[in-house]
Amino acid sequence: MKKAKLTGRIVTPEDSDYEQARTNNNLNNPKYPSVIVFCQKTKDVVNALKWARENNEPFRIRSGRHSYENFSLVNKGLVIDVSDMNDISVNLSEMTARIDAGANMGNVYRTLWEHGVTIPAGTESSVGVVGLTLGGGIGMLSRPFGLTCDNLIEIETVVASEHEGAQVIRANKQQHHDLFWASRGGGGGNFGIVTSLTFKLHAINEVSLFSITWGWDDFEVAFDAWQKWAPYTDKRLTSQIELKTKEVGEIVAQGEFIGTAAELKKLLRPLRKTGLPTSIWIKEVPYSKAIEFFDLPSGNQPAYRKRSGSFLERPFPYKAIQRMKEFLAHAPNSNTTIWQQSLRGAVGEIAPQHTAYYYRNAIIAQEYNTSWKKPKEEEQNIKWVENLRQALSPYTSGDYVNFPDRYIKDWHTAYYGRNFRRLREVKTKYDPYNVFQFQQSIPPIRKWL
Ligand SMILES: Cc1cc2nc3c(=O)[nH]c(=O)nc-3n(C[C@H](O)[C@H](O)[C@H](O)COP(=O)(O)OP(=O)(O)OC[C@H]3O[C@@H](n4cnc5c(N)ncnc54)[C@H](O)[C@@H]3O)c2cc1C
Repeated sequence: MKKAKLTGRIVTPEDSDYEQARTNNNLNNPKYPSVIVFCQKTKDVVNALKWARENNEPFRIRSGRHSYENFSLVNKGLVIDVSDMNDISVNLSEMTARIDAGANMGNVYRTLWEHGVTIPAGTESSVGVVGLTLGGGIGMLSRPFGLTCDNLIEIETVVASEHEGAQVIRANKQQHHDLFWASRGGGGGNFGIVTSLTFKLHAINEVSLFSITWGWDDFEVAFDAWQKWAPYTDKRLTSQIELKTKEVGEIVAQGEFIGTAAELKKLLRPLRKTGLPTSIWIKEVPYSKAIEFFDLPSGNQPAYRKRSGSFLERPFPYKAIQRMKEFLAHAPNSNTTIWQQSLRGAVGEIAPQHTAYYYRNAIIAQEYNTSWKKPKEEEQNIKWVENLRQALSPYTSGDYVNFPDRYIKDWHTAYYGRNFRRLREVKTKYDPYNVFQFQQSIPPIRKWL
């Protein structure tokens, strides 16, 4: 049989653009691949997978570079990067879009908005649509329209095949439905290399936004009012709350509503009447402005970071809120935050076993965030996140697979709950030899592997 060759744009450590090509969004825990192939088409992906297998080369798959734990990078081996493949074609008569796996959210939102449509997805424009979707995909339209993966119709993916080394297949409700099930919440990098995704679209036009800020003294009352309101209010309204450090001294709730500012004002009454807000605004904007508003203002440059997360299936008791306040009073630096987003609505209307995304009964997803400037600050920051995660664990469930944390020992159940067993079965069927692997990848079932 003819030997496979790497095709596409190839970058190695000798090239002047190697540093840029290997650097992910998180500078912590850096990795140095021996070759990065930027695939230009599906055939390049097929060739890369065949080449890696023939040469016994460790490899990882990459798109938007936002894996919290850099699971899309590898030391010494090959990175198969799809980010140069980013065409988007919209079919308005069928209300679908086929999106190449290299597109990032900014590109997706802009292109869809030109047609007056969108998909519910994450807020940060540089995140890759593929990594986000495979793990679930939460964002400011989750409550009306569901997770990103709930709007997925089909994926095209390159899987490892016994005879050819690599094979292109399509997974949807009819064909390879088990892989389609696993690709809606099972997380990136486990089963194959996705090359395109087809989504159901939603028409969108004007939306209303709000922002309410409180000072540090209102920490407990503001959070408590938000958590008892946000998951249960009108499902057209999704919101988030950011708890900042004592030094910054702010609690900020913001959200997006498909409806008028007057309706939103009424819905916000329980929050507006809580504590002494230092600022409140509500406004109607074109949807494109809402996208810009929730995008990170700093441009999200690569930095040293540690993040982790969990779900709330019921509101925090008062003592858990106080624990968060204590941690934020002793944060390693002022960039540290705890962030929550409201769930339920369309997300909770689907059963936990219906897709691989398990935490359908959660009311809130939350994230613990730090970033720092000098490598020597790493230990202190990581400790803060891990201690916080453990302190809150009596009141929380699992962790969202898109907020992975290599310190979580029972990650199988933390990410996948009772869906883990079925995910292993799908893994065993599509990747019995465990070709696709990384530190927290789903293992096949057979003992001899
Ligand atoms: C600043 C920031 C903001 C975020 N905001 C949100 C948010 O609003 N909502 C939300 O739900 N999540 C959010 N996330 C989490 C995000 O969904 C995950 O980090 C996601 O995995 C990123 O995907 P990526 O393609 O950018 O990253 P990558 O690092 O390229 O990949 C992530 C994972 O997917 C795998 N993968 C990449 N490409 C492919 C492919 N073609 N086929 C198969 N597997 C692949 C990788 O191997 C890796 O395991 C955010 C993350 C960051 C850092």
